[in-house]
Amino acid sequence: MPNVLVLPGDGIGLEITPEAVKVLEAVLKDHPQSLKFEYGLIGGAAIDEVGKALPDATLEAAQAADAILLGSVGGPKWDTLPAPQRPELGGLLAIRKALGLFANIRPVKMLPMLVDASTLKTEVVKNVDLVVLRELTGGLYFGEKGRGTNPRSAFDNLIYTEEEIQRIVELGFQTAMKRRKKLCSVDKANVLESSRFWREITLEVAKNYPEVELTHMYVDNAAMQLVRWPEQFDVIVTENMFGDILTDLASMLMGSIGMISSASLNGSKGLYEPAHGSAPDIAGKNIANPLATILSGALMLRYSFGLEEEAQKIERAVEQVLQEGYRTADLAKPGDKVLGTREMGDAVVKALK
Ligand code: NAD
Repeated sequence: MPNVLVLPGDGIGLEITPEAVKVLEAVLKDHPQSLKFEYGLIGGAAIDEVGKALPDATLEAAQAADAILLGSVGGPKWDTLPAPQRPELGGLLAIRKALGLFANIRPVKMLPMLVDASTLKTEVVKNVDLVVLRELTGGLYFGEKGRGTNPRSAFDNLIYTEEEIQRIVELGFQTAMKRRKKLCSVDKANVLESSRFWREITLEVAKNYPEVELTHMYVDNAAMQLVRWPEQFDVIVTENMFGDILTDLASMLMGSIGMISSASLNGSKGLYEPAHGSAPDIAGKNIANPLATILSGALMLRYSFGLEEEAQKIERAVEQVLQEGYRTADLAKPGDKVLGTREMGDAVVKALK
């Protein structure tokens, strides 16, 4: 039986992961394929328990697991630690790096019943259906960092190797081939050498995908275009930091970051997590939106276990619950039926039946 390692992490991670597990168990209840769930520590919870954001036991369990479901890490309690020890760098970035999870996939598709929840006008967001592919293990976040004196200074190095660019861009083209065959590579080639290199490699890879319409866009323009006319995008591929920022921006097209799921893949293994953080401001109150994590569970069934039908069942159940007017507080408008985190999980399970 395949093993799923569940890493709830910190803050609302502790509340949203049980809802995703509940939904995964429900959708596979009478299915020949079942999943075994194991649990581990990561982030601040791991620092408190064993003094390290990514304990050796967690990394070993992650290496042995068939897939990983992660909540979120971080919080004010650990913010004063040196950066490499913090939940984000020492936990989340470390597990992504250790498992070689180089591709982060974030689908952003507008659901008709959520059009009102977006802060943008209906005509701008109603047809949004795009995927952002973010490079996850290279670039600025993983380059050498340091401080200087006289003058006081700090630096972060942005380095990409040919192979790192090739494999993510390749995945971008493959993803586009399964969709509307449009790929937009986002860079800052007017200023950064690393971006000029990114563009060079992208053009080389493009030769193998003549059917895909490739465009290049500077990241500042991409930020503008995403709020101006988002439906022009099919697949976006970009480096780590640009992707970090653009995916949060893209998530707001859908009204709440609490709706955006993600898959981080390395070819054979996947880590699935919501796009948002640990939301310390609402943690422990049973008001967090669990749908991004539940939808990340659907991505797990799709990418790690080839269970497309069951993945779609979860996606349809989520749509049904929203169609019936149920919302968590982050999405609610006057007149909506507001549910707590657990109750939203229960509603999705009920809709599956
Ligand atoms: P955040 O995503 O945690 O929260 C941003 C805002 O969105 C908050 O107002 C929060 O209440 C809201 N929000 C987020 N998820 C929600 C959900 N499921 N339902 C309803 N509302 C939700 O980002 P932040 O406040 O910048 O960061 C908080 C902590 O999380 C920090 O320690 C940060 O480093 C960490 N973080 C972790 C991850 C991760 O684990 N992948 C990602 C981003 C930030």
